[in-house]
Amino acid sequence: MSARIIDGKALAAQVRSEVAERHARFAARNGRAVGLVAVRVGEDPASEVYVRGKKKAAIEAGLRAEEHHLAGDITQEALIQHVRALNARDDVDAILVQLPLPKQIDADAVMLEVAPSKDVDGFHPWNAGLLATGRPGVRPCTPLGCLRLLDEAGVTIAGANAVVVGRSNIVGKPVALMLLERHATVTLAHSRTRNLADVVGGADIVVAAVGRAKMIPGAWLKPGAAVIDVGINRLPDGKLVGDVDFESAAERAAAITPVPGGVGPMTIAMLLSNAVELAERRAGA
Ligand code: NDP
Repeated sequence: MSARIIDGKALAAQVRSEVAERHARFAARNGRAVGLVAVRVGEDPASEVYVRGKKKAAIEAGLRAEEHHLAGDITQEALIQHVRALNARDDVDAILVQLPLPKQIDADAVMLEVAPSKDVDGFHPWNAGLLATGRPGVRPCTPLGCLRLLDEAGVTIAGANAVVVGRSNIVGKPVALMLLERHATVTLAHSRTRNLADVVGGADIVVAAVGRAKMIPGAWLKPGAAVIDVGINRLPDGKLVGDVDFESAAERAAAITPVPGGVGPMTIAMLLSNAVELAERRAGA
């Protein structure tokens, strides 16, 4: 194995301690803690785990975190009213609505209701538009984590050929735009991409965000590439793996994130960072 393993757990711990210090300064200046509210609807077990993790991390960094657990049969109108009430609360700086939402709810319509100034996930079309047009704004947490991991590994982004596999609005598309913002030459690949192996083979940086276990073998990679594996896939034996075949990829890549312990912990760390940043902006800092 020759690749450097980029330790997302260690970097996330560092980011979280930076956030805690920044939060302490905010609290001292403003006489209150940053308020984060996570809205969870219904009984999705993965959502329960994710929200618990986010709340715990927020409290550890000193933030005030609330979990609002709403009934799975809530109407869209009632959920929207709930979000509007959070928008109006002065002590709430950051709002996240945990996805997925139950079938009767139009998730896009709910996301549109989160005030862009409190949109800690950066999913509101207003914030997505700021990213697309290269203006400052709230950036989505997982893509922020991917960029920070590349920086940590000392990867030069400007001028690099970057291939992002997966074009979702929450990961692939914003990662591609953020790499472009950092002056990479970006290819955004997806399920209709022809000759994916050749496309990936030209990349200095590969970001995999598909959700298919080990779909990118090491043999596809350009020797010396940097690999960020966003995918989280559970094998029949219960083991978690990424979208990249870690063992073969580590033979060829210069740097690679593991799954678990790579992008996952960074997502929560960047969420906390976004929450404090939103609060600072609201306070006029
Ligand atoms: P989506 O299902 O929304 O998007 C998957 C993307 O992969 C789509 O754009 C799809 O293309 C593309 N795709 C599917 N099959 C192929 C294929 N054979 N070849 C190339 N592209 C393909 O997933 P998400 O973006 O929400 O998540 C992706 C993965 O990242 C998942 O495993 C998820 O669990 C993980 N994740 C991890 C996070 C973390 O914190 N570590 C946070 C968020 C997600 P098309 O658009 O054409 O359908």
